[in-house]
Amino acid sequence: MKGFAMLGIGKVGWIEKEAPACGPLDALVKPLAVSPCTSDIHTVWEGAIGDRHDMILGHEAVGEVVEVGALVKDFKPGDKVIVPAITPDWGSLEAQAGYSMHSGGMLAGWKFSNFKDGVFGELFHVNEADANLAHLPEGVDMAAAVMLSDMVPTGFHGVELADVQFGDDVCVIGIGPVGLMAVAGAALRGAANLYAVGSRPNCVALAKEYGATEVLNYRDGDIVEQILERTHGKGVDRVVIAGGNAEDTFVQAIRMLKPGGRIGSVNYLGSGDYVRIPRVEWGCGMGHKVIASGLMPGGRLRMEKLAALLATGRVDPGKMLTHRFQGFEHMEEALLLMKDKPKDLIKPVVLI
Ligand SMILES: [Zn+2]
Repeated sequence: MKGFAMLGIGKVGWIEKEAPACGPLDALVKPLAVSPCTSDIHTVWEGAIGDRHDMILGHEAVGEVVEVGALVKDFKPGDKVIVPAITPDWGSLEAQAGYSMHSGGMLAGWKFSNFKDGVFGELFHVNEADANLAHLPEGVDMAAAVMLSDMVPTGFHGVELADVQFGDDVCVIGIGPVGLMAVAGAALRGAANLYAVGSRPNCVALAKEYGATEVLNYRDGDIVEQILERTHGKGVDRVVIAGGNAEDTFVQAIRMLKPGGRIGSVNYLGSGDYVRIPRVEWGCGMGHKVIASGLMPGGRLRMEKLAALLATGRVDPGKMLTHRFQGFEHMEEALLLMKDKPKDLIKPVVLI
């Protein structure tokens, strides 16, 4: 079979590979719609997970089941499915402890284009199909549904980690696709004043559409000062980090947070050895300012619940799709868009 792969650090291209084998609990799926992700860029061009050779890329897909193992109960060939980026081993002790994303080791629930071939192949393998696949609901746009693989669950997980409650004042740092979904998630969770930090005009407009009450631009001055000004010096109850870096972003988040507040971070910290935390604003360690950070959970139950939010029109991640391609042959073009990040890009999708 053909697949679009990482050939080595900084190199991508089409390769031929043997089709994967299907175990008794597993499924083989052919992609119907896929989306490249910033993580693919980190993987290839920054060598984020180390050197990988001839590994098929991609972890965001909606597809059609082609084959299932003998023990799979709820899926059959021809079913249209949403494929979560994170596909844990549900029998692992980590999953039993509530941390399925770390099944088999830290971050090891992330298998596609990490430990095994990803979804940019003519076929791909899904472990534990009954637990990891989700049925695509009737009437849900396939391209929008691809955002359920990673963008929606990651953005929403930031909101869960920050534990946003009714009436909270919330700041979402970063309004790329994950941050935009964090804005939408915080609005669904009942945020009152919902500030978002970003500057790209199309993202700013969409952040407002998803529920941001105000979008703050770092070019208008220190973000922390802007938040403190609007909250009478008190700061916000919750901060969701969906962008930034290890050096500055946690400093800002701690400084703009009330004592007793929570930070939910889903940002991937790709460089540096340490995360900086400002000692005094952290209450000298006694401020009850909690930092919760993590990889989003996978799994069918969560995925089907999130898909229900699309089916009922509660959230429409399809608005983030600025670039649509028809045909597998456009894979490289779509991926390079994520690398080059033209001004009008939020998220591309490739329909196959
Ligand atoms: Zn992704």
